[in-house]
Amino acid sequence: MNDEISKQIISTVKNFVKQDVHPVVKNLEENDIYPEDLANKMAELGLFGINISQKYGGLGLSYKNLAEIFTELSRGWMSLAGILGTHTLACYMIENYGTEFQKQQYLPKLSTGEIRAGLGLTESHSGSDVQGIKTFAKKKSEGYQINGSKMFITNGSKGNLFILVAKTNLEINPKYKGISCFLLEDSDQGFSVGKKLDKLGYRGVDTCELILEDCEIPLNRLLGGEEGAGFRQVMDGLETGRINVAARSVGVAKEAFNLSVEYTKQRETFGKKIQEHQMIQSIIATMATKIEAADLLVKKAANLKDQGLRVDLESGMAKLYSSEVCQEICMDAMRIHGGYGYTKDLPIERFYRDAPLMIIGEGTNEIMKLLIAKRVYENHY
Ligand SMILES: Cc1cc2nc3c(=O)[nH]c(=O)nc-3n(C[C@H](O)[C@H](O)[C@H](O)COP(=O)(O)OP(=O)(O)OC[C@H]3O[C@@H](n4cnc5c(N)ncnc54)[C@H](O)[C@@H]3O)c2cc1C
Repeated sequence: MNDEISKQIISTVKNFVKQDVHPVVKNLEENDIYPEDLANKMAELGLFGINISQKYGGLGLSYKNLAEIFTELSRGWMSLAGILGTHTLACYMIENYGTEFQKQQYLPKLSTGEIRAGLGLTESHSGSDVQGIKTFAKKKSEGYQINGSKMFITNGSKGNLFILVAKTNLEINPKYKGISCFLLEDSDQGFSVGKKLDKLGYRGVDTCELILEDCEIPLNRLLGGEEGAGFRQVMDGLETGRINVAARSVGVAKEAFNLSVEYTKQRETFGKKIQEHQMIQSIIATMATKIEAADLLVKKAANLKDQGLRVDLESGMAKLYSSEVCQEICMDAMRIHGGYGYTKDLPIERFYRDAPLMIIGEGTNEIMKLLIAKRVYENHY
């Protein structure tokens, strides 16, 4: 994809946010309504295929562009980036680890948004401790029989295809070698969707429990046809997921910041605009610097990913830093808006409620720190 076309796509996304998202977000968010029309519009714009090669019908954009798109969408509503988040992660995993049959079968339809994907990794007892998952896929002559459940699954009820992470060997040591990834379809016998969770933020987008009771799937739905490779596949996928979560954090922070700057130019106290108070200037300067630093970390991780390099360290740092500063900036935006920031009349309180998810999702920030420290001590840094 040449630079000019990528720029046009990003400019189209900015217009979409301005014209289609801003007018409806308040109602959808407050009432926890899935943004069906906005999701369909994103499909029309090709956004479900942003990281799928053109060969399979996608836009084949770089991760740098993907990050920019996630940032722009999150400036309008972070939940829209959520709809695309694990979808793009699943697309990445299928294109990079799937068999040619799996790529042909799913990628063209994932590109158009005709089918939408999610990631089924977390379980009720096991989030950070990925190797502790209990969902088990038993190999039979015709396929696999899967039993277990998944928790907190984004796109759980609206998704049609899930990368399902399950154990295929309970005895093997180390445990991660017993983990495999499967392509689970929403029509599979024995698969059902449990309750939709009621959340602080990230509203509208569906977060559900997935249940597998003697769920039968054919052998050709084992990702890449390789048992025991699931841990490596999903950890690689999560590196891209962390770039998108970091980019979302930058988007939410940027919007909270821009509204704050505007507000300081209008609000008067003690006979002058609050922008003239040095203490307000100090907050604004700190916010601006944090956003710039977060943005640079995201761009660095995305650029390295575009070079085909491993980016667990860089995407971990970008996700850790961006999400923490996003939370701080949303709080500062509320400070600057005074009492009005605390009301539902302005979007600041929504940003404040959306920000913590980026600290928790795609691996908590404590897990990011463990990962970064491990790489530091391996002398890779
Ligand atoms: C809205 C939402 C959407 C989500 N979407 C998806 C999805 O689409 N697919 C999916 O698979 N999952 C999804 N998740 C799950 C998410 O990835 C997990 O919640 C997250 O990884 C944390 O797991 P946990 O909730 O089990 O917390 P736990 O792992 O139980 O952690 C609890 C606390 O202990 C800390 N902790 C854990 N282990 C350590 C350690 N070794 N050292 C130090 N501290 C530690 C954690 O950082 C955290 O503070 C979603 C979650 C939410 C809230």
